[in-house]
Amino acid sequence: MQFSDRMSLLGTESAFEVLAKAKKLEAEGKKIVHLEIGEPDFDTPNNICDAGVKAIQDGQTHYCPSGGLPDARKVVAEYISKTRNVSVGAENVVIMPGAKPVIFNVIFAAINAGDEVIVPNPGYPIYESVVNYVGAKPVMMHLKEENDFRFDTDELKALITPKTKMIIINSPQNPTGGILTKEDLETICQLAVDNDLWILTDEIYSRIVYDVPFESILQIPGAKERTIIIDGMSKTYAMTGWRLGYGVMPESMANYQTQLAINNFSCTATFAQYALMEALTGQQNDVEMMINEFKKRRDVIVSGLNSIDGVSCLTPLGAFYAFANITKTGMSSAEFAKFAMEQAGVACLSGTAFGKYGEGYARFSYANSIENIELAINNIKLNLAKV
Ligand code: PLP
Repeated sequence: MQFSDRMSLLGTESAFEVLAKAKKLEAEGKKIVHLEIGEPDFDTPNNICDAGVKAIQDGQTHYCPSGGLPDARKVVAEYISKTRNVSVGAENVVIMPGAKPVIFNVIFAAINAGDEVIVPNPGYPIYESVVNYVGAKPVMMHLKEENDFRFDTDELKALITPKTKMIIINSPQNPTGGILTKEDLETICQLAVDNDLWILTDEIYSRIVYDVPFESILQIPGAKERTIIIDGMSKTYAMTGWRLGYGVMPESMANYQTQLAINNFSCTATFAQYALMEALTGQQNDVEMMINEFKKRRDVIVSGLNSIDGVSCLTPLGAFYAFANITKTGMSSAEFAKFAMEQAGVACLSGTAFGKYGEGYARFSYANSIENIELAINNIKLNLAKV
């Protein structure tokens, strides 16, 4: 059978492949510490589960409007208005089965073949993959360690051409844990206004910040009419398996997103949206507990990584990833990830899973217990000494 040519353009997210390899080694009896997948190890808070269960028992098991339940869209609009300090309405919100479909569908709706889209690199691989898939060209915005994994303004300006249609940003960032400052966001917004660009801002880690406040580009004057916020429930509320995300955008874009939903998945699970409403409006103690715990783990993993000969790591300001520089081990990123898995029993991701500028790095997700993080560090240290 034959497949469409465009399938060869689609990339992947290698965290899932590394997880499968780790599971295979475990099935063969090897012990593996999982620091590869970007998934909170906590359970979804009880109040949220209860709301989902109650909705099922109340019969909320049918189709609902494709853009989301009106009440759920309103709750998201109020949440975004409060957390981003700017007023948006339910008509600006579309609820989708995860943040990923928002990335896919927004690029699909905004970008033509031949257009250019500026993407962070190292960065979440799905942006580059989807931009390629629609026949457009991903243009790499190099995030360098010496800039705290933020972009260089002059370099960014030089990337913009008449073909540029969108800038994608992600702060707090996967894989580096870097955060863009308000000045950075002002620069992006000005460039977008001057060049009439869309801004796609992936804010899925907006609540997982340490030591610094979260800033959204939406609050910068001029941004609202050209910005799509991506956020969702997976990371903040430990709800990865519920498949619940949303986008906040100009109404014209929201209408196209609804049309794409009609054509693709009809609607997001109705009962799950009751859980979303409880998550955003109910008690936030569990979220605070998770963030405090992540912060403790961050400190353990960063000091642990820095204690390994040949490895160094900046302190991430958000998300739950440590992006360690491994160049002084003499290994490439792929070699290091292979060594970590096969010899040290630690699953982590090669920096190149996040693009070519990830060479020289490895990403460790610290969504795991302090005990396991310490075990991983010790195993890497011991085994690296033998290499
Ligand atoms: N955006 C970023 C930056 C991510 O790291 C992830 C998950 O790893 C997603 C989006 C996808 O989130 P969801 O599970 O809501 O589809």
